Amino acid sequence: MSALNELYEEIALCQRCELAKYRNKVVPGEGAENADVFFIGEAPGWHEDQQGRPFVGPAGLFLDQLLASINLKREQVYIANVIKCRPLQNRDPLPAEIRNCREWLERQIELIHPKMIVTLGRYSMAMFFLGKSISKIHGTAQKRDNVIYYAMYHPAAALHQQSLRQAIEEDMLKIPSLLAQAKTMEQAKQQPQQLTMFEV
Ligand code: URA
Repeated sequence: MSALNELYEEIALCQRCELAKYRNKVVPGEGAENADVFFIGEAPGWHEDQQGRPFVGPAGLFLDQLLASINLKREQVYIANVIKCRPLQNRDPLPAEIRNCREWLERQIELIHPKMIVTLGRYSMAMFFLGKSISKIHGTAQKRDNVIYYAMYHPAAALHQQSLRQAIEEDMLKIPSLLAQAKTMEQAKQQPQQLTMFEV
């Protein structure tokens, strides 16, 4: 069994918070074990809780369309959430729940070892861009330790709000060139500078 599958088994047994009592299925995440791009949403919703898979409801369909706009399929990337169990009534995740779940996400990132981490929405953004506001930094990237961190709006928020929809569509289109830069950096074995902020 792969290390990632072993991790899924551990996550499925997690009882660190109350959410475990109410979940139908845990939603660890899914995608290619060697994915270059790792997308991080917020929390499973009703559809995800039913199926045990991330982004399979309306926001997920939109995410699939956004991926298609850059010629990617969900099987080629990795998709996970900040928390792995659905909060009742789809309420926002609590700080303690995010803390409890953080280890799972960190271990996933370590195993996938992506070139680029894309945060979807405020909750995942807050983990990687401390103290920033999504309306200011969406569509901008930051390079740290040879990984590119890139913030985008959440597809569910963008789905019904025209201005956000346009922004998320445009932000998605910037991913291929950022990824190409990441690959060039790697090939050239260029040493990263610390915390270089660059806009595309
Ligand atoms: N919204 C999320 O943040 N994650 C999902 O998996 C589905 C909807």
